[in-house]
This record gives sequence, C-alpha cells and structure tokens, in this order.
Amino acid sequence: MEVKNQNIQIIGAGLCGSLLALRLGQRGYNVTVFEMRTDLRKTDISAGRSINLAFSDRGNKAIKMVGLEDKVEKLCIPMNGRMIHDRESNTFLSNYSGREYEYINSISRGGLNALLLDEAEALDNVTIHFNKKCKSVDFENSTAIYKDYLTKDESKITSDSIIATDGAGSALRKSYVTERKFLFSYSQEYLTHGYKELCILPAENGDYKTYKNALHIWPRGDFMVIALPNLDGSFTVTLFLSYEEGEYNFNNLTTPEIVTEFFQKEFPDALELMPNLVEDFFENPTAPLGTVKCSPWNYKGNTLLMGDSAHAIVPFYGQGMNASFEDVVEFDAFLDKNEGNWEDVFKAYSQSRKKDTDAIADLAIDNFHEMKSHVGQAIFQEKRKIEMALEKEFPNNYSSKYSLVTFNENIGYREAMLRGRAQDKAILNMLSDGDISTNIDFKDKAVLKIVLDKVIAETNNILEDDMVAKTMHH
Ligand code: FAD
Repeated sequence: MEVKNQNIQIIGAGLCGSLLALRLGQRGYNVTVFEMRTDLRKTDISAGRSINLAFSDRGNKAIKMVGLEDKVEKLCIPMNGRMIHDRESNTFLSNYSGREYEYINSISRGGLNALLLDEAEALDNVTIHFNKKCKSVDFENSTAIYKDYLTKDESKITSDSIIATDGAGSALRKSYVTERKFLFSYSQEYLTHGYKELCILPAENGDYKTYKNALHIWPRGDFMVIALPNLDGSFTVTLFLSYEEGEYNFNNLTTPEIVTEFFQKEFPDALELMPNLVEDFFENPTAPLGTVKCSPWNYKGNTLLMGDSAHAIVPFYGQGMNASFEDVVEFDAFLDKNEGNWEDVFKAYSQSRKKDTDAIADLAIDNFHEMKSHVGQAIFQEKRKIEMALEKEFPNNYSSKYSLVTFNENIGYREAMLRGRAQDKAILNMLSDGDISTNIDFKDKAVLKIVLDKVIAETNNILEDDMVAKTMHH
C-alpha cells in the first residue's frame, strides 16, 4: 500500500470518525485521531446498558466500501417492520416494505464503534489517541488544541488537514462561529420533546420478552415509546415526550407513582415487560433533540465538518448514523476525482452533499409526526396497505417514501424526499377523494395495476406543479 505523504487529523472517534479513519487509512494517508472519551473497548460495558441504532442500506453501502459487510452483519438483528402497540395492548405488524428483502437492522452503537476502531487501528498508518478533548481549532493554521483528561496537559497538533467528526457539539463548528473569520451560517433548532432511554431486560431463560424482529412503537399522538432488540435478549426502549406540554411531561414526571401511573395508563403492555421502569427512569438522563444546519462545512483545504458536526438531525428516520456513513462514501468519491487538492475536495463534497443532508433533516422531522401519531390513524394505514401491495406486485415500479429514503442508497435523500412527498400527497388525496380505495381485491394484479398507474400519474402531476410553482417563484 502506498502511504501518502499527508497527515490527516480527525477529531472524534465516534461512528463517523472511526469509519473515516479506516477509509483514509485504507487510501494510504497518515491518520491521527483524537477522541475525548476513554477507549470504549476497555471500559466495562456491562455497567451501562446497551444503546442500539437502526442501521440500513445507506450505512451498509459505506460498510461494504471498507470491506466489513460480513463482520457487521453478525452484529445486526433484522427488523422487518413496525410492531404497533395500541392503548388496549393490541399489536399489529406493519412491514417497512412490500419487498421481503428490504428491512432495517438493530445494531449496538458500542459494538459497531468498537469494530470500526479495531479495523482502523489495525492499519500501520492510523493512530488513535483517547482522553484528548479538542478545545478549539485554529483553522487558519490547521492546528487543533487538545486537553488530556488524565494529565491535564494541553497540546497543539498541526496537520495538513483536519476533519472534525466530533458530533452535534463540535469544537470545530464552535471555532467557526466564535472566530468570525468568514461568513459562516449556523442554526440549531430544538424540538419541544426530549428523550429518555429505558430497557426491557431479557426473560429469565434469556429469551426476548416480546417479538424480536420488529421496531416496536407505542404511538400516542403527542408522545411515544419505541423499542429495538439487542443481541443479548434485551430491548433498548426510548420514551419521546414533551418537556412541558400535555398532562404528563418530563417536567412533571417527578415521582415513582406518577411515572408508574403514566405507563399504566398509556403503555400497559410495555409496563408489564419493564419491572425495572422506575429505577431506569430516575437513573437515566433526559436529553434534548435538535437539528443543526450550517454552511460552509469547510475552511479552505484546512478543515472540514463531517457527520453530526455538520448536520445533526432528530432520530425519527433512523438515518443520522446512516447519513454520516454516507458522508464518507460521498467524500471518498470526491477524493477519487480531486485527490491532491484538499480545498477542491472539501468544497466539491460540501456543495454536493448539503442538499441531501438538509433533506434528511426535514424528513426526520416529518417522521416524528408520522411515528407518534399518523401510524395510528386509519387513512395512514390504508395508504401503507396500498403501498405495500404495490411494492410487492410491482417491485421494480414502485417504492414508498420510506423505501426511497431507507433502501434506495443509489439515489440522494433530496430526490427521495421530493418523490416520496409527492407520492404521499397523491395517495392521501386520492384516498380521501375516493379515486382509489382499499376495498379492492388485493390479489387481482390487473386491479392493482390501475391503482399503480393512477398513483404514478398523480405523483407526476404534483411534481410538475411543484416545478412550475418553483420556476414562477424565481
Ligand atoms: P457521534 O456519534 O456523536 O460521535 C462524536 C465523537 O466525537 C464521540 O465519540 C465524542 O466523544 C467525540 N467528541 C465530541 N466532542 C469532542 C471533542 N471536543 N474532542 C474530541 N472528541 C470529541 N442514527 C441512525 O442511523 N439510526 C438510528 O436509529 C439512530 N437513533 C438515534 C437515537 C437517538 C436517541 C439519537 C440521539 C441519535 C440517533 N441516531 C441514529 C443518530 C446517530 O447517533 C448519529 O447520527 C451518529 O452517532 C453520528 O455520528 P458522529 O460520529 O458524527 O457523531
């Protein structure tokens, strides 16, 4: 392997940083990574409960690029659909796609991060330092300042280029904002809702206490609980709830009695699976959810933001990590084109990528409303029923918005958003106007073909109208 005479510094060895280090290492760069936390592979993970994420095709495209598909697959639990739990404890499974081979996966954040760190560190030209917190970045001189947690020493590290993958609270982004050396636009918007992680422990015999291969959702209109399976038989549960609005909210759930009453009333079947609820509730923090947008991501060829540091999004599409992994794939493609000139690579990558990360940020907000509320509504369920049938019967001619976003890694998020939204609008309009309905013989392909043609025609009309409106607007 040719080792390029270029030193690349990466700030943050989370999911994006460790993948990027591996990829740049594979390409032959000298890579040095600085991570503020201790090495997660050396801390006792049994002390903290596992946190998992939904991992899907866009993320997997990056994993294939670095040659880790088989190793990552071993960490995955397929989730074929959403298991919806209503207030009366009835459940029904709503598949993510009418195509059987399309499903998402539950994966351990720590397990995946550890694998990426192992693989990156196995390369001679990649070095990872832990307990080093970046305080600020002098981006004009490609120098970052770190404080060591253990020794308290400060050090200045200069490299040919610095890429910050230090997450939603990025130190590089802060330096861009505070230094005011160039026109840097930045916005951060919080949801009114926060989240808290809880847990369904395995049954005594080690089995899963509820159906394993689904993403469980308890949609309640203004709030919801979700649960994703872990390899050890447990589920990581997340409660999404307003801080201050509604009868029950994070600000007033202050005693074991109120917390139990809330779950008893809203999530009785979940409560049965969680004798540890009250303990978890008061032990685990409540955290806010926000969207970060900014531009430009780079300062010349010196520094670049990537992953959540450039575009943190709310978690409701299960795409934050997948988008951050896709960043590395896109970046790699621009390296192929412009390798040798960091400024060109950074600029071309950022300009091409931003429209897609802006799109997934907006889609993720849409999905917040879809998950907590729409999935429980009749018209939404009718739409899903039709889409599922179309995907099954016409696998090459129809993909729902969810499929376009999640399983079509060869089109960008923006294209998926435009087409997906137009389709949703078309189907919902036609359902309420009675142009299509679920009172049809779903086994009759000719009948379904008529529905398909109507949906495609109406979608194209909507897309055309949007184009015309846009042109007139300009
Ligand atoms: P992070 O994973 O945040 O990593 C940043 C790293 O940088 C960390 O290791 C941190 O310790 C380190 N760091 C931070 N500051 C410094 C500093 N100053 N100096 C040195 N190191 C530093 N995405 C999905 O795809 N699917 C999901 O199902 C999903 N669920 C989610 C659920 C929740 C509740 C949340 C909050 C997010 C979820 N996400 C999901 C999003 C996903 O977690 C992020 O998009 C992803 O972790 C981004 O990776 P990253 O490496 O950019 O940032």
